[in-house]
Amino acid sequence: MRCPFCGAVESKVIDSRLGGDSDQVRRRRECLECLERFTTYETAEVNLPRVIKNRGNREPFSEEKLLSGLQKALEKRPVSVEELDAAVAKIKHRCLQEGEREIDARQVGEWVMDELRKLDKVAYIRFASVYRSFEDVAAFREMIERLEKEPSSEDIRNQMSLLDDD
Ligand SMILES: [Zn+2]
Repeated sequence: MRCPFCGAVESKVIDSRLGGDSDQVRRRRECLECLERFTTYETAEVNLPRVIKNRGNREPFSEEKLLSGLQKALEKRPVSVEELDAAVAKIKHRCLQEGEREIDARQVGEWVMDELRKLDKVAYIRFASVYRSFEDVAAFREMIERLEKEPSSEDIRNQMSLLDDD
């Protein structure tokens, strides 16, 4: 965090507390160069692990990417914003629980699939088919079959609405 007065990079934290919004940490800092004091507000994301991508490069954890991935999978599906937010929070929580500085993107992907599976099976299949890029058709079919064995309330609703149409 650069000093807003002189632009120096080094500062020390002189006070740290949770902000009104408990996700935020308010830090009082003192610049090591000019000794001016300033306040930063940091979200818990600064503590989230870096993500190791498939090719081995690392990037900062991005809640935006996580959210947009979920939103894409859930497009036009009957899932509320609250449910979506809760899923994002859960995935972030699991990343933090790992307690590692870096985390495999594949691991995050698996957790996304866990959440989608609970929220909406169509979204789950959408995400999984892209994410796992099913080269293996048999594996895809197997997954669908596994899902079909555990009907969700939504499946039941769909079946009922089909009956209504008749
Ligand atoms: Zn300064």
